[in-house]
Amino acid sequence: MRFPGPRSAGGIGRLCRIVGRGLLVILLGALPARAWEIKSFSGRDHVSLEEIATFYGLGEATSPDAKTRKLKGSGRSLLATLNSREMEINGIRHWLAFPVLEDDGKVYVSRLDLGKTLEPAFRPTRIPEFPPVSTVILDPGHGGRDNGARSPYEHEKNFALDIARRVRNALQKSGIRVILTRNSDSFVELADRAAVASRLKNAVFVSLHFNASDTNPAAKGFEIFCVTPRGAPSTAYEQIRERDMVQENGNHHDIHSFALANAIYHSMLGRVEMTDRGVKRARFAVIRLAEVPSVLVEGGFLTNADDARKVASKQWRDDYATSIARGILEYKKLAENHISPREVAAYRNPETALKPIVEAVPPPPVPGVGLRDLPQ
Ligand SMILES: [Zn+2]
Repeated sequence: MRFPGPRSAGGIGRLCRIVGRGLLVILLGALPARAWEIKSFSGRDHVSLEEIATFYGLGEATSPDAKTRKLKGSGRSLLATLNSREMEINGIRHWLAFPVLEDDGKVYVSRLDLGKTLEPAFRPTRIPEFPPVSTVILDPGHGGRDNGARSPYEHEKNFALDIARRVRNALQKSGIRVILTRNSDSFVELADRAAVASRLKNAVFVSLHFNASDTNPAAKGFEIFCVTPRGAPSTAYEQIRERDMVQENGNHHDIHSFALANAIYHSMLGRVEMTDRGVKRARFAVIRLAEVPSVLVEGGFLTNADDARKVASKQWRDDYATSIARGILEYKKLAENHISPREVAAYRNPETALKPIVEAVPPPPVPGVGLRDLPQ
């Protein structure tokens, strides 16, 4: 089926009548203006990788192996794996809502993923209606009676507060107004954290956590979450559930949140020495409830020996916090001046590369990692 592009006259109304599915309306604003050929699989709209390649100037796909399609052109790149939700876009790992499919020799991507992930990743300056960034709200996870995860060195709550203060200090040097949802070892309800964001206009919200796995000590790496679009399953789930159809507060800004996640992630991947797990989607309370662009960063697994050692290193935490601050500043330039955020390749340019991270010594007694040396 072929239908008019979203920005063509009368396209939206006509499309709704033809298709009769509310979900498509949500996606229209984000899709490039042209007629896309839509193919339905399991009742879900898909577009061919061929058409995506033509539109974005990605050239012809090559196949490094039977399951992989690689495209590169016009300063963009894409690496798709058949039957997988993992897709590398411009050098970073993204998690799609639905797997890439193959049918009759052609490869397809869901329309939702084209609108909510590929388009804002490839053309961030075309994202409409960015609110400016007057304030950055930093949300150190846990606190007080809620310790969060635990490493041999320190509780998650203390690492998170340390990172928040370092990010704050870096942002304040650039003249940005910063608010912390907690600046002491205190317990704050999740809803109250999101409410700080909702009281402010023109803010972004960045929640800071570290990860843990009860069952897999090998699990490691950083990842970043932005809110799952309505109609999509979160990254941790394969199937759509009823609640996935609910429009949350956070969904009013889901493209902006994605752009914020992307800007921070490129910066992190370019400068932080740690395995990377990708840009993911979730409906965690703080990013679901916040009424401003919001993300949640998981800075490595405290249950993994390598990650825990890195996080315990002051040098690593400083690099990590600096990279988050840098990503936020890149997002601000995008939102206010329509300047594309720097991407991982630019961060890895030898002229801007960071010095190698100094590994921490083996576990000292808890806490003993200098967490309280920053201005409070
Ligand atoms: Zn946490």
